[in-house]
Amino acid sequence: HFNFCSGPATLPQAVLERAQAELLDYQGKGLSVMEMSHRSADYMAIADRAEADFRDLMGVPDNYSVLFVQGGAATQFAATALNLTGKGGRANVIDTGIWSQKAYKEAQHLVGAEVIASSDANNYTEAPVQGSLSLTDDAAYLHYTDNETIGGLQFDHVPEVDVPVVCDMSSSILSTPVDVSKFGVIYAGAQKNIGPAGITLVIVRNDLLDRAQSSIPSMLSYQLMAANGSMYNTPATYSWYLSGLVFQWLKEQGGVEAMAEINRRKAAKLYQAIDNSGLYNNPIVERSRSIMNVPFTLADDALNSTFLSESEAAGLLALKGHRSVGGMRASIYNAMPESGVDALIEFMTDFERRHG
Ligand code: PLP
Repeated sequence: HFNFCSGPATLPQAVLERAQAELLDYQGKGLSVMEMSHRSADYMAIADRAEADFRDLMGVPDNYSVLFVQGGAATQFAATALNLTGKGGRANVIDTGIWSQKAYKEAQHLVGAEVIASSDANNYTEAPVQGSLSLTDDAAYLHYTDNETIGGLQFDHVPEVDVPVVCDMSSSILSTPVDVSKFGVIYAGAQKNIGPAGITLVIVRNDLLDRAQSSIPSMLSYQLMAANGSMYNTPATYSWYLSGLVFQWLKEQGGVEAMAEINRRKAAKLYQAIDNSGLYNNPIVERSRSIMNVPFTLADDALNSTFLSESEAAGLLALKGHRSVGGMRASIYNAMPESGVDALIEFMTDFERRHG
């Protein structure tokens, strides 16, 4: 079976097998990782290794903190706003779809926000081009969503502005190399490319740690979390451990560069199959096409349910598109092997021959 779910998504098979082998008795310690104190030496070693491997994979510079927090990426819509506006100013937001709109609404509600660029005019088929932004005078930070998981719209560059850049990388982190030094804050919910749901990664530049609103809830404070090694309260210990296993697996695969090569190949062949067909369509302009989430529609909506039942019978799971856009969506994160994409293309070609 191949799971094309947008999240929680497939984890590498090797990681699940290792977790299974270690489930009841972690490396002869006589207990499960789930039962360990987060302050024990054994658990601290797991947590520290996960952070070190993540820093290594992402090339996180020393002047950034890495936080393992809870609440999902959606909590970061509020946390980024409250952490970055204590010295005044509002959020400036780029609107490329549903997730950036949610980030905008939360920032607008809490600290005030302005949409300074939007893909609305092109019906969310193209992300802004480099150099096209103009910020408000009171911009405290710029927020954008690198990859719109639902719309399948992805940036092909990092916006360059003179305020801290905040990026929601939930569905694209670790899929391709990024220059972390261009960002003030990067955050990502784990359940696509990192690990199981329940943990959220935040990378924050240390000079931004003193900009929080004084009323910020403790659990949202980057400064407090950084000062306490993400253990101000009990962290999501098991998700942290599993994320660490994924980081080890990624390093064994050759790291982010090696994954990016496979990811680009997977996406290119799937888009090519869509573009070459008379039945399937993806409306996104080429430079803005997501390499992680590939939405597509069928020329005849009446075929949707047949497509879904036949694909599921063929072992190709969770291809139904998001309820707000309909059609299909294939999420092809790091853990989706190239053979899964090949199987999907073969199925789609065969389906078109029989029904197209
Ligand atoms: N941002 C993006 C780009 C997402 O894809 C998602 C979830 O799919 C979220 C934010 C929300 O993440 P969470 O469910 O972890 O709060």
